[in-house]
Amino acid sequence: MALLAPPIPSQLPEFAQHYLSRTKQLYIDGKFVDAQSGKTFPVFNPATGEILAEVAEGDVADINLAVAAARRAFESKAWSGLPPSQRARLIDKLADKLEERLEDFALLESLDNGKPLAVARVADVPMSVDNLRYMAGWATKILGDSIPIAGDFHAYTRREPIGVVGQIIPWNFPLLMAAWKLGPALAAGCTIVLKPAEQTPLSALLLAEIAAEVGFPPGVLNVVPGYGETAGAALAEHPDVDKVAFTGSTEVGKIIVRAAAGNLKKVTLELGGKSPNIIFADADVAQATQGAAFGIFFNMGQCCTAGSRLFVERSVFDEVTHGIAAAAKAMNVGHGLDARTDIGPLVSDEQLARVTGYIESGIAEGARTLSGGARVGDRGYFVEPTVIVDAKPHMKIMREEIFGPVVAATPFDDPNEILGAANDTVYGLAAGVWTKDVSKAHKVAAALRAGTVWVNCYNVFDPALPFGGFKQSGWGREMSHNALECYTETKSVVVKL
Ligand code: ADP
Repeated sequence: MALLAPPIPSQLPEFAQHYLSRTKQLYIDGKFVDAQSGKTFPVFNPATGEILAEVAEGDVADINLAVAAARRAFESKAWSGLPPSQRARLIDKLADKLEERLEDFALLESLDNGKPLAVARVADVPMSVDNLRYMAGWATKILGDSIPIAGDFHAYTRREPIGVVGQIIPWNFPLLMAAWKLGPALAAGCTIVLKPAEQTPLSALLLAEIAAEVGFPPGVLNVVPGYGETAGAALAEHPDVDKVAFTGSTEVGKIIVRAAAGNLKKVTLELGGKSPNIIFADADVAQATQGAAFGIFFNMGQCCTAGSRLFVERSVFDEVTHGIAAAAKAMNVGHGLDARTDIGPLVSDEQLARVTGYIESGIAEGARTLSGGARVGDRGYFVEPTVIVDAKPHMKIMREEIFGPVVAATPFDDPNEILGAANDTVYGLAAGVWTKDVSKAHKVAAALRAGTVWVNCYNVFDPALPFGGFKQSGWGREMSHNALECYTETKSVVVKL
């Protein structure tokens, strides 16, 4: 494992130097504006710990203005009243513009979040484009039913936009999470106040810039960066917001639910996970080993779906765990703009402290590292990709979401008993199964209490595929037509004939 040298700001591509030199403003009612308070907050470069940009700090007053703008845009029908094909056209234009600016978005995403630029180029940005295009297609296909009922009536349903929606998103895939949320809301005809994570607000602000360029009416999309406890909380409890959609920790998800109770706004949640990844001895072991490494180390483990509890049938346990450890040791740790980087920094010093704290707690409780286990360097928020063995089910590292490149591997003997261990978690977001036995694969997939089960693969997403959690991993689904339903109300209309 090698630590590559940190980036030199003066050598950043011209777009980034220019974009980052200006204080970034809030986007409200079609205009870029300062915060009412005049305050700004710093955004850090996770590779160096230095300030990357200053961003206007949205708070209650700004959220109020943004919600009022979204309300006016909703009531005027400037968006929901457009012919669906025109809504589709604008969402498509947004996707086209995003694709045109792929390099700029990938660069910002890498600088802001720390992820390898190469990954942002092939994953974050193109997947965001695909999501917007997929949802644009739904704008013209929001259908009601004609329903035969008793008596002399004509009865039918209409699906209408829910109204003003607040969307609060995390820092692990800043642009993609924005696209997942904006796509269905826009397609359905809702108007939006988006609050990006305070760690990574830059790509959402650039997205607002291109939304303005392609001609979204003012107030349809508002972007208000700020802290969770202030701007986020104000949005979640706002009495004039009809729905709040949140992606983040289960802990904050519960706060959102309580805040939403005031006006009983609709809530969808995409929360944490502690996903089991199960490798049976009859799997293609090389493929499973590679898949398990990808399942935990992708995005530095900062994925809600991270396969953080690895269960391996005993006869192949050493082969798999040593294989993952070897893969971890071969990874280059470095800043996102270096083409050699496999593992970038974690997003923040808080996240660095949290991940190293979990590793230390596991070791203190008797687990052992097969590889990694420490911070890398003393600048930036780098941590080694880490493989832990000898973890016991009661340990914190087996129960709580670490959200870092840390996998805890446990051997099992009885394939029939592994399901109990796999489902022994409050979470239920995702799971992996590796086997060549088709019948076993489907049985295990059915028995796992998780919103997504990957068989002989991991972290495969598609805009057409519903994504969300069982148990404390969430409410509702993202992507697919299911997401669209979460942004519409169903109205029954009964006409006496
Ligand atoms: P993490 O712990 O991984 O940083 P969080 O769940 O804290 O994830 O953050 C996800 C999003 O929720 C961010 O946009 C953050 O600002 C926001 N947030 C945090 N706390 C609150 C809160 N009390 N009310 C509303 N939003 C919040």
